[in-house]
Amino acid sequence: MTVPLDVDTLAAALAERLGPGSLAQVEKRVPMSSRTTFRVGGPADVFVSPSSVDDIAAALRFCRENGVPSTLLGNGSNVVVADRGIRGVVVALGDGFARIGPGASRDGMREVHAEAGARLSALAAYCTRQGLSGLEALSGIPGTVGGAVLMNAGAYDRCMQDVVVLTEYLDEDGAACVAEGEAHGFGYRRSAFLGGGRVVTRTTVRLAAADPRAVQDAVNDFGRRRRESQPLELPSAGSVFRRPPGRYVGRLVEECGLKGAKEGGAQVSPKHAGFIVNAGGATAEDVRRLMERVRDAVSERTGVRLEPEILFIGEW
Ligand SMILES: Cc1cc2nc3c(=O)[nH]c(=O)nc-3n(C[C@H](O)[C@H](O)[C@H](O)COP(=O)(O)OP(=O)(O)OC[C@H]3O[C@@H](n4cnc5c(N)ncnc54)[C@H](O)[C@@H]3O)c2cc1C
Repeated sequence: MTVPLDVDTLAAALAERLGPGSLAQVEKRVPMSSRTTFRVGGPADVFVSPSSVDDIAAALRFCRENGVPSTLLGNGSNVVVADRGIRGVVVALGDGFARIGPGASRDGMREVHAEAGARLSALAAYCTRQGLSGLEALSGIPGTVGGAVLMNAGAYDRCMQDVVVLTEYLDEDGAACVAEGEAHGFGYRRSAFLGGGRVVTRTTVRLAAADPRAVQDAVNDFGRRRRESQPLELPSAGSVFRRPPGRYVGRLVEECGLKGAKEGGAQVSPKHAGFIVNAGGATAEDVRRLMERVRDAVSERTGVRLEPEILFIGEW
């Protein structure tokens, strides 16, 4: 894919559009291996870290008007970026757009607002300090609040759907909108925001008041279970495949004798066969080849067709 402007011109034009009042950072030729948890992937032409909804809207409008491809990113914990990188502009919601604060309280429940770039772990830590229960099981998921809403992230039989009551977003045309309750369209690892060019900007969770020590104990317990069962010491993007109804991906992969299998630097985790890890020097192509090998072997041996949970982005 070609970009109509060269990278330097593109970055300068985007910075100018954002204006001198903006705190957004605009960087060029940023290796995506440094901005994603898998630690693979080539450079993004231009990488912008917005600090406000206006920045996000302006960057996306700039791309639309100039025919420049844009890619939205949170913490990069559910993606594999192509070795050739990402053409155009990556709009990455992170620390610059991560304010968390109190909302209304009613019927013993309290609301908390979080901007989309806030880490889910930071939101969970805030709620723990406030003595609010509901996010403990999700506290170890290494994504942003926006990415977690988009994917309806979940763990240990809990998911974002259980706590999210309202979400502010930009629609396909950049207009500010609000979704409440059912309008989130939550399902297993999906929401109404997936795939449609919508950008989650802020969400509100509603949680129950509880003893802060009990909440902290639960957070610690879920963290321990995660450390015991998942290969957190190596780069990855979490579970590679969506869970097929009534089956466990890890067990299916083990049945095929693929636990520990390697393609280049990518390896099916010897600790948890539902994960592929970067065991050292993996390329995005290694990860893709290994995923395809696992998918084909599982399909052939068990008849179960695995669907990827992680997303492939960039110039493949
Ligand atoms: C070690 C490890 C463990 C994990 N465990 C779990 C788990 O237990 N449960 C689970 O569900 N997931 C898990 N994951 C996967 C991942 O953390 C989640 O899917 C997370 O919600 C992704 O958030 P992110 O900000 O990193 O999104 P990214 O990976 O940056 O982006 C994912 C997708 O979301 C889009 N996106 C990001 N932000 C926004 C936004 N504000 N508005 C619209 N679209 C947006 C991106 O365009 C992209 O398509 C794990 C990952 C790792 C590495």
